[in-house]
Amino acid sequence: YAMDFIEATRWIKENLPGARVSGGVSNISFSFRGNNRVREAMHTAFLYHAIRAGMDMGIVNAGQIEVYEEIDPELLERVEDVLFDRREDATERLVELAETLKDDGVVAEAKAAAWREAPVEERLRHALVKGLVEHVVEDTEEARQQYPSPLAVIEGPLMDGMNVVGDLFGAGKMFLPQVVKSARVMKKAVAHLIPYIEAEQAAAEKVTEKPKILMATVKGDVHDIGKNIVGVVLQCNGYEVVDLGVMVPADRILAAAEEHGVDVIGLSGLITPSLDEMVHVAREMQRQGQQRPLLIGGATTSRVHTAVKIAPEYDGPVVHVLDASRSVSTVSRLLSPDQHAAFLQEVENAYAAERERHAGRTRRAVHRSIEEARANRFQCDWEAVPVTPPQTPGLTVLDDYPLEDLRGYIDWTPFFIAWELKGKYPRIFEDPAVGAEAKSLFDDANRLLDRMIREKLITARGVVGLWPANAAGDDLEVYASDDRADVRAVLHTLRQQTQKTPGRPNRALADFVAPKDSGVADYVGAFAVTAGHGVAELAAAFERDHDDYHAILAKALADRLAEAFAERLHALVRRDLWGYAPDEDLANEDLIAERYRGIRPAPGYPACPDHTEKRTLWELLDAERHTGITLTEHLAMAPAASVCGVYLAHPDAAYFDAGTFARDQVEDYAARKGLAVEDVERWLAPRLAYEPAAERVEAA
Ligand code: SAH
Repeated sequence: YAMDFIEATRWIKENLPGARVSGGVSNISFSFRGNNRVREAMHTAFLYHAIRAGMDMGIVNAGQIEVYEEIDPELLERVEDVLFDRREDATERLVELAETLKDDGVVAEAKAAAWREAPVEERLRHALVKGLVEHVVEDTEEARQQYPSPLAVIEGPLMDGMNVVGDLFGAGKMFLPQVVKSARVMKKAVAHLIPYIEAEQAAAEKVTEKPKILMATVKGDVHDIGKNIVGVVLQCNGYEVVDLGVMVPADRILAAAEEHGVDVIGLSGLITPSLDEMVHVAREMQRQGQQRPLLIGGATTSRVHTAVKIAPEYDGPVVHVLDASRSVSTVSRLLSPDQHAAFLQEVENAYAAERERHAGRTRRAVHRSIEEARANRFQCDWEAVPVTPPQTPGLTVLDDYPLEDLRGYIDWTPFFIAWELKGKYPRIFEDPAVGAEAKSLFDDANRLLDRMIREKLITARGVVGLWPANAAGDDLEVYASDDRADVRAVLHTLRQQTQKTPGRPNRALADFVAPKDSGVADYVGAFAVTAGHGVAELAAAFERDHDDYHAILAKALADRLAEAFAERLHALVRRDLWGYAPDEDLANEDLIAERYRGIRPAPGYPACPDHTEKRTLWELLDAERHTGITLTEHLAMAPAASVCGVYLAHPDAAYFDAGTFARDQVEDYAARKGLAVEDVERWLAPRLAYEPAAERVEAA
């Protein structure tokens, strides 16, 4: 049956390319119930072969799979004898071996201890593949005493082990969190050897012969989780990474590239202004006559943007890297003398096609004039819309908010995405491919979270403001007091301008607040929260211990807690502080699915893509004083684990994408904000439906 399944899968994939194949896997090992080692080996071996034959999905207990390469060779042979019906006595031989493998605790312990008896090379390899740090220093020391030089230990057993990790990862048999754990083992081993290497000057020079990659989060941006993961993965694959950290201006990037003689420059960024900053770096590289390949990565970056906006600015190679798992193959092809030319040709063709598609889309998109768009605004009967004056108007400061209260509000799905494990929490744990690893990552995360809470390693701070407000055109006037006589601040919103099908409005967030002339006294709110104070110190402590895994984990958890804080606070606002939904009682999954009244659009997101609105929020909320969150020159929030937004309570308020803007709206918007048009064009660069005048861009 196993053979038939695999053969059938192969046939289906060859003859019915549109069809998908799913299988229930556990049945195959049913006769061995109670003997987990044999069951795990059977599942793992079967999945390995079935996936290679094209199986798309499998149903299996995620706790019962292993790494194929780690199955004991004798057991694997006998399992595969059965799976492929390779010998007459295959069944008897597997049953016989299985008897000796009944997994009572004693055997498991014996197995766990057994790897300690292997030769030192094997122990190091095992520790690297399994991510085990406990014995790595003593094993490294043992190897150092046996090998001719400390460098030989790195180039020999340690690199061999990392190559195994790299191969397994490349073949989809290991996942990112495992690789990062392996890197931690490697770093600890290398750290032990460094003092000995430094004692031998000649060797020290040789260490630096690996290809070098410079990595930096661009000026104005503070996000580095993705960059750090990529850095670790590259290091695992034999590259040296020169990491310049966050908020790095172009001149520092270029100077460091020269100083370290790097082979590749990698830029990272998460917020939209970073896209423009990357264009700027590319231009600077061109101006200085650089030739080095430029890699582009990070959440807002895309192949389109790289092809359309960045590549044309620089004659050297420019390549977008979709995620950490692609970084190694991209860099290795870029730097391979044999593949370099073909790879660049491939990229160039793909990007040329991307540019053509983009030009076609731009030509097709029809924009309404801003007046027409306004005439087609979202409309409602303001008499019928419920409006509730806030129970607690003005500012409410939440200092040192209890972290244990935030824990239950965490949305874990994006956490797994950050680690490139795809699947929705909690179902992800059942996933045949990534389930086991997701669970192990989740357990590590919760252990660290326990510690962060118990030892108060980070501090959560937040501020909420609720004010009288009315819409004035596409703007929101926030009033100083209930008599609505003085305008304290104006929030500016942007309107969808693309042609809509009849009956669909051209929306702006201002539409969800009662206009001044409606006579309805309406309200808006805003908030800023952070769970990032203390995270940098915590991550740095882990990094000093060569533990990138926990450093990245700490940052990813702080991000989760900040989002959880935003969710928690929004619920508190709806029920109490504003109090328009006092009886709301929703489970966390309902909160994540936004099954409540009102929204909290965040500047920089699709409904309100202008980051400069944060300046107004900061003023209104006195946010820096109350939360300690500062805004960088490109209006990223520092610390990175911070969230802010506006509260709108209208029952029909919903998120939307404001799309791209024509020149008439950009000019109107600039005038309303009191900014120069070219300033606004720079902030909205990825969303302009037209080419801004060239000298304007240069001036920016
Ligand atoms: N549970 C997620 C929540 C964050 S994403 C997490 O833990 O990461 C959802 C938030 O993003 C919204 O609450 C809102 O603040 C913002 N958002 C999403 N879509 C938006 C849009 N179109 N315009 C403005 N803000 C948006």
